Amino acid sequence: MNYGVFVPGASPDGHATPRVGVQWNDAVVDLGLLGLDAPPGLFDGPSLNPFMAAGPDVWAAVAEQLADPAADLERAATPVERANLLLPIEVADYVDFYASIDHATNVGLLFRPDQPLMPNWRHLPVGYHGRAGTVVVSGTPVRRPHGQRLDAHGTVVFGPSTRLDFELEVGFVVGVPSGQGAPVPVEGAASHVFGVVLLNDWSARDIQAWEYQPLGPFLGKSFATSVSAWVTPLADLEGARIAPPAQSPEPLPYLQTDQPWGLDLDLTVERNGEQVSACPFAPMYWTLAQFVAHLTVNGASLRTGDLLGSGTVSGPEPGQRGCLLEMGGPFLADGDEVVLRGQAVNGVALGEVRGVVV
Ligand code: MN
Repeated sequence: MNYGVFVPGASPDGHATPRVGVQWNDAVVDLGLLGLDAPPGLFDGPSLNPFMAAGPDVWAAVAEQLADPAADLERAATPVERANLLLPIEVADYVDFYASIDHATNVGLLFRPDQPLMPNWRHLPVGYHGRAGTVVVSGTPVRRPHGQRLDAHGTVVFGPSTRLDFELEVGFVVGVPSGQGAPVPVEGAASHVFGVVLLNDWSARDIQAWEYQPLGPFLGKSFATSVSAWVTPLADLEGARIAPPAQSPEPLPYLQTDQPWGLDLDLTVERNGEQVSACPFAPMYWTLAQFVAHLTVNGASLRTGDLLGSGTVSGPEPGQRGCLLEMGGPFLADGDEVVLRGQAVNGVALGEVRGVVV
């Protein structure tokens, strides 16, 4: 079941206490009201972090109790239209990867037709550290960012971005922390990562193009990142695991495992009510396990609430482009609404991400 944080009532009430809940039919079930057998303090809100930090045994024990008809979820249910869903996690560190070979190739072709993939791309999952403090929940309006860019004559100007884009991504949420100086092996991801959100990495392409060399994305992306209000446990997606694409050349040993797995998810992008893209997650080149192994191999630690973005999800076909840069525009206008949705092959629906440009 999908987990989230909510305040009862159709609009935010400064006096109401946020509560941890699960999505059940068209309702939110308040876990604090069920008398579950679990360590104290996990469901008192305002975030899923205490529950996520409790680890896989507690996650499994709670899921088992919720699946038992004796739990009687009805008595703790609030209709979803009467619940105000909040940002489900207190975001610790935010990292965004670049794991789709189709996206990296399509974007690379725009700038380097002779060598679309950089020499490092097939050796490590390329990523950058983003801004955790501007991650917002689905439904939050996104203000068009202002910044420096080059105009058509190559002059540096300042003003609102004229090339505002979305990026369709999957985000992975860390529950169990790891120690500094103690790398997590490639088999260790499922012991640390609690679940999955959909993620829109809003990107101002004009600001990005002017600022990004040589140190990477900065203000062109840090103004807002939207995530779904619902976090889907990784455990619920075990039935959606598939073999990932073969990797060539073979990566270094710390990125290898005998049993690699990806996720078979179907993702869509809707713009102003019209579907503009349908992207499979299955062809993603780098896996979650490799993200975690690579992120920690230098001794960096994981923290509860870390958010790991997959990078833009694009597939090999023309209708499988995860951002407007790859589609050739047109870029987002004020008032445009972007909705990301996702469904796993085992029938589990991910939480949607909705945002309007203002
Ligand atoms: Mn991104």
